[in-house]
Amino acid sequence: MKRPILELTIEELKEELKDFKKFRPKQVFNWLHKNLVVSFDEMNNLPKDLIHYLDDNFYIYNVKILKEFHSKLDETKKYLFELNDGNLVEGVLLFYNFGISMCISSQVGCKMGCSFCVSTRGGLVRDITASEMIQMFYLLRKQHDELKRIVFMGSGEPLDNYEGVKGFIRIITDNNGLSLSHRNITVSTCGIVENIYRLADDKEIKPNLAISLHTPYDNKRIEIMPVARKYTIKKIMEAINYFTEKRGRRVTIEYTLIQGENDSSDDAKTLAKILKGMNVYVNLISLNENSFMDYKEATHAKTLIFRKILEDRKINVTIRRELGRDIEGSCGQLKNNYLTNRMGEKL
Ligand code: SAH
Repeated sequence: MKRPILELTIEELKEELKDFKKFRPKQVFNWLHKNLVVSFDEMNNLPKDLIHYLDDNFYIYNVKILKEFHSKLDETKKYLFELNDGNLVEGVLLFYNFGISMCISSQVGCKMGCSFCVSTRGGLVRDITASEMIQMFYLLRKQHDELKRIVFMGSGEPLDNYEGVKGFIRIITDNNGLSLSHRNITVSTCGIVENIYRLADDKEIKPNLAISLHTPYDNKRIEIMPVARKYTIKKIMEAINYFTEKRGRRVTIEYTLIQGENDSSDDAKTLAKILKGMNVYVNLISLNENSFMDYKEATHAKTLIFRKILEDRKINVTIRRELGRDIEGSCGQLKNNYLTNRMGEKL
């Protein structure tokens, strides 16, 4: 069975290629991660025996772009990837004036069960491997030189696939590869507390952190985010404080406004109290409605009031710009059952 090569670090490549000259692993790594070659034949400064060895033991790509969708409202592009076992996952490119970001998926499906999110509806199918994430990123990077940022806001819970996410970040930040800045990578989590600590202490990867809070009340949170049964808001805040102190970085609090659920003035005031003095900023997201649920997005007026209450209490806050709405490229709309579901006819 051929193994994936893209997720191997230089150290691991050295181990694999120890029978070859010492400088070969670095050359191979460069071909894979700087030149983004798709076949071993392209590595034209390597001896034939090494190319054969690589070919016999490893594969580079087994993920394909199946389909891409271009927004008519803005520049957003959504991609449907096919993994080797037939699973489909989505990724999105977001174009900002400071560069291009990829919103990447970390799992096929998700087991967290947030009531407003479509990615979790079929439960968790499986983790996406580091190699698969690298492939999806490189496939898009080949088309877009300016793609230099990653947000883990596609389907799945990245801190429920720590090893895969870590393996991906380790490779894309490697100085012998594309050398992305850790500061340009954001891991978004529903609040898996022990892995927030793990991330804060991780010596190899240092991404930004975003927390999906969505309400300042534990009982409401349990209602809309079942994971809250295990992790209280207090515990999450302690973990955030540990992270900000350890890393000296501001953490993003994601807050999707849902009409009548979490968009009242009281919600905003309580949120401000909880966040007072913390090194965080709040990102207000408008709910993307979908046919699976009855929730409605908060009105624009309510959103502005919510923001004002936070601002008046000196909490940093922004309203997230909506991108790619017409191609379901926006938050929480990414799912993997594309072909078999209602979107089938669009293919
Ligand atoms: N599992 C990670 C990544 C989820 S997607 C996490 O929970 O953070 C990124 C953001 O989109 C999360 O804040 C998520 O709660 C939010 N989201 C999910 N469904 C949404 C919807 N229908 N409308 C708006 N935001 C949504």
